[in-house]
Amino acid sequence: NRYTKEDIIRLAEEEDVEFVRLQFPDIFGVLKNVAITVSQLEKALNNECSFDGVSINRYGELARTDLFLQPDLDTFEIFPWRPQQGKVARLICDVFNVDGTPYAADTRMVLKKVVEKAKRMGYVFKVEPECEFFLFHIDDGGMPTTLTYEQAGYFDVGPVDFAENVRRDIVLNLEEMGFEVRSSHHEKAPGQHEIDFKYSDALKTADNLLTFKMTVKSIAKRHGLHATFMPKPKSDVDGSGMHINMSLWDEEGNDVFYNANDEYKISKKARQFMAGILSHIGAITALTNPLVNSYKRLVPGFEAPVYATWSAKTIFALLRVPAVMGTHTKLELRSPDPTANPYLAFAACLAAGLDGIEKELELCPSVDVNVSAWTEEQRRTLDIERLPKNMCEAIDALEADSFITEMMGESVARQYISAKRKEWDVYRRQVTEWEIKEYLNRY
Ligand code: GLN
Ligand code: MG
Ligand code: MG
Ligand code: MG
Repeated sequence: NRYTKEDIIRLAEEEDVEFVRLQFPDIFGVLKNVAITVSQLEKALNNECSFDGVSINRYGELARTDLFLQPDLDTFEIFPWRPQQGKVARLICDVFNVDGTPYAADTRMVLKKVVEKAKRMGYVFKVEPECEFFLFHIDDGGMPTTLTYEQAGYFDVGPVDFAENVRRDIVLNLEEMGFEVRSSHHEKAPGQHEIDFKYSDALKTADNLLTFKMTVKSIAKRHGLHATFMPKPKSDVDGSGMHINMSLWDEEGNDVFYNANDEYKISKKARQFMAGILSHIGAITALTNPLVNSYKRLVPGFEAPVYATWSAKTIFALLRVPAVMGTHTKLELRSPDPTANPYLAFAACLAAGLDGIEKELELCPSVDVNVSAWTEEQRRTLDIERLPKNMCEAIDALEADSFITEMMGESVARQYISAKRKEWDVYRRQVTEWEIKEYLNRY
């Protein structure tokens, strides 16, 4: 472990920390926090800080008493963009009941359990995300718009790219918090950007994603902009994805997915892992693509996947084996978007992949073309499955997949599904602008 309790208390004093944010994700991976002053730090480190679970969005349906926060000491980090006198630090926490048992709706715990299972099988799961987002203007009332005056596209440079200094500022702040940033660039759509950071084990990467999103939003705001991770803010341009690059390592640090003698440099276990993911893809999609809006990204004509295929040759596949230099290989899942609860998304991918390994599932042949261009008949002959078309189909698939709902735990699964059903019900009653435009005059 990185820090002891004493280390944290000493660090807080040396660094002139005044506030500590105790943070945790709600069921949907939205970051929540309570701030304490440094005078309460010792109490917090003894797991004595409690909060009213009932008030956390769709979190407290089970919580009849107070819930307790147990800080993960290794997550201690100082926010570089906050005042540097009387600094603000944070600790990500696990959530516990008063009797010391883990709180059933804590999704960080869900991931920890699957990670434990992997460990028992002799594996460490590492994830490297590629998170995309838009930067939009803020209106006079301080509310976000979908407006950008930018006209830049993929890999463009300034001054066509208006946001080079925003990305620079984000990257520097991330580095100060210990991130190893791989690269950053302008994405395809005007106002769209991507910043990639190095893989860690799944739990650390999920924690990092909460920090990443908070940092991107905070720094963008300083530049007078709104950063959004909404998957498809504009229907006519690319949406924002969060590709996840997965690798599996054994205890000696060998790459389990690598095989020098294979034509794509992937091992049998890598194929079984992919087969496992494909066999649970409907339920996984409900977790990697949680919003009504998520499914407006997964449509033909853009770079997001639509069909459940794998390939080492085309970027249009759902699961991609990227070309490798050297001896490290990874599997890239291209469907997730940045609104996924990373704890649940990674837990589902890992559990499904391990299921494939345990059952020694046979991987279907790769499909090395963009099958969106094919006819329905052509796809049917090859038995190519489509990703869920909308949130309702995805939730149906999740509910039908007892392997994934058991992995989530009864209470997380139940609350997740019922909240999403309600969300769908509200959505499907909306009369949209598109309908008015199409129908009002004609009929
Ligand atoms: N924005 C695309 C998506 O929706 C990805 C584009 C890319 O990274 N090349 O996933
Ligand atoms: Mg990328
Ligand atoms: Mg990208
Ligand atoms: Mg990618």
